[in-house]
Amino acid sequence: MSERPVQSPSKHDVLLVGGGLANGLIALELRRRRPELRIGLLDPDAEPEPHTWCLFATDAAPPVWETLRPMLDHVWAGYDVAFPGHARALTTPYGCLTSRTLRAAVRDALGPDLLRRRARLVSPEGVVCEEGDTFAAPLIIDGRGATPSPHVDIAYQKFLGLELQLKRIHGLTRPTVMDATVRQADGFRFIYVLPLGPDRVLVEDTRYSDGGEIDRLQLESELLRYARGAGWAIADVVGRERGALPVVLAGDVEAYWDEPGRHVPQVGMRGLFFHPVTGYSFPDALQVAELVARNAHLGSRPLARVLRDRSIALWRQRGFHRLLNRMLFTAAEPDQRYRVLERFYRLPQPLIERFYAGRSTVADKARVLAGKPPVPVLRALKAVAPPRRTPVVA
Ligand SMILES: Cc1cc2nc3c(=O)[nH]c(=O)nc-3n(C[C@H](O)[C@H](O)[C@H](O)COP(=O)(O)OP(=O)(O)OC[C@H]3O[C@@H](n4cnc5c(N)ncnc54)[C@H](O)[C@@H]3O)c2cc1C
Repeated sequence: MSERPVQSPSKHDVLLVGGGLANGLIALELRRRRPELRIGLLDPDAEPEPHTWCLFATDAAPPVWETLRPMLDHVWAGYDVAFPGHARALTTPYGCLTSRTLRAAVRDALGPDLLRRRARLVSPEGVVCEEGDTFAAPLIIDGRGATPSPHVDIAYQKFLGLELQLKRIHGLTRPTVMDATVRQADGFRFIYVLPLGPDRVLVEDTRYSDGGEIDRLQLESELLRYARGAGWAIADVVGRERGALPVVLAGDVEAYWDEPGRHVPQVGMRGLFFHPVTGYSFPDALQVAELVARNAHLGSRPLARVLRDRSIALWRQRGFHRLLNRMLFTAAEPDQRYRVLERFYRLPQPLIERFYAGRSTVADKARVLAGKPPVPVLRALKAVAPPRRTPVVA
């Protein structure tokens, strides 16, 4: 990345602030569909934080999945889940993209316009950087990750992952997206296993918890115990990642967008473009990249309104997801939360696919809620009304 001060502050048509998942995908989509635009991307880190971003093939429209597929680090033909009373193999393809791969693709696409800068002030017209230089462009897009808000009431899906180099081949061919047969702790707990190579595996301890704090040492030792239990002889720990993703319970989306500073186009977690139950933003980021590429001619302020409208529309469509989160967090005892997911994973595969893709039909919703709930009925009914809890900060 270039460290030189920028001489001409208005040489870009588009400036992307933050080089994570959302803006990385926007950079590539703009380069593909609008090759004439001069795109600059500002990020303080020469190498991104290690992330392994996954999605189901059915989270994206088929042509989008086909375009994305060659860039993915891994694609598996299906995945497994396991609960105390039920295990299942699903045939939905699952793929992952590492932050390293995405950054390399962005570097190839932008060359010297990938700039190592930390933005201090971001407005619809320009960016002032900590390094002292300023940039201007007709279109500025803010993808600097989630921001705190008193208007979004959340709990957490928090996790810590270890990438393990094993001494021998593990024999796994598919990810285990949830192994909830482990001891339940700190809410709903499961282990996530991604076979990244014949003798390499990413294993994550994940908890749906009321608080976002992570006890790194404790989770690492739990993971090493899990690995030993699986019969894996560990040669080395070659990578680590951790996160606390928002699980949205309720909120006031219009008040969120009325907060100061949100008149700059906001994408990714910052624009609330993520699944309320999983905290996954990859599928939304693909759609937003397409939306931005189609509307890049508008400039900052009109595009900010387009993104705001899309985000509010998605929020309204996703009330059902927030209701399920409230059932999970307020109706179920923490050590019984796994039952909600165990029951969900008995439902038909196409329904599960539509759920993760945010396309549940009315019939799907009725089916998810039908029957004897795996949580106490009175508490489940209370969870239907959005709570007015003390606002939690994202
Ligand atoms: C470890 C981890 C694993 C995840 N796995 C998945 C997954 O499997 N699937 C999925 O869909 N979602 C996953 N998520 C959730 C979510 O999709 C990610 O958090 C995703 O990275 C969010 O994308 P984003 O573009 O909003 O933010 P980020 O990807 O976090 O990007 C923000 C970028 O902004 C930069 N930045 C910050 N401040 C400044 C500044 N002042 N100036 C310039 N740049 C700045 C940062 O350096 C960073 O590169 C995961 C999250 C984590 C933390």
